[in-house]
Amino acid sequence: MTLYVGRLPERVRRRRARWAVASAVVVVCVAVVGLVHTLGSAATPGPTPTAAQGLSPELEQRFAAAQAAAELAGVPLTLTSGWRSAAEQQAIVDDAVERYGSIEEARRWVLPPESSAHVQGTAIDVGPTEGALWLGEHGFELGLCRTYANEIWHFELLAEGADACPELHADSSSGW
Ligand SMILES: [Zn+2]
Repeated sequence: MTLYVGRLPERVRRRRARWAVASAVVVVCVAVVGLVHTLGSAATPGPTPTAAQGLSPELEQRFAAAQAAAELAGVPLTLTSGWRSAAEQQAIVDDAVERYGSIEEARRWVLPPESSAHVQGTAIDVGPTEGALWLGEHGFELGLCRTYANEIWHFELLAEGADACPELHADSSSGW
């Protein structure tokens, strides 16, 4: 009995210590979630369409058909980027300038919001590499064309009535 009474406060102390740690963890998690939520709200003031929702209906249909055809062929094909807001596109331009170290190099990989087909909902980026290469081979039959020689992943709609995909541009720099 004496022994039990002597150990009890120790156990209580340990339990209290565990609760204190657990509570602190919960408080930190709630704070982090709150902060992320606040930052997210600041970046996106209202509900915006997803990358897939903002695509032109024609492109959405053709990509769905392409995905079905790829699946039949046993090739993975996913959308890695579709519609983008002008703000998202500008952020990509800014990132590219930083990553490539110059506006000249960045222009080869990204267009400004005013000329980007992604902002107009008429371009998609696809992956993985296997899927992108497959679509590069079969895109014409599905009404989708690769646009740039340096981007195996970027596709736009085949123009109405065209009997072939247009010649590839070397890169996106001519669109600036
Ligand atoms: Zn693209």
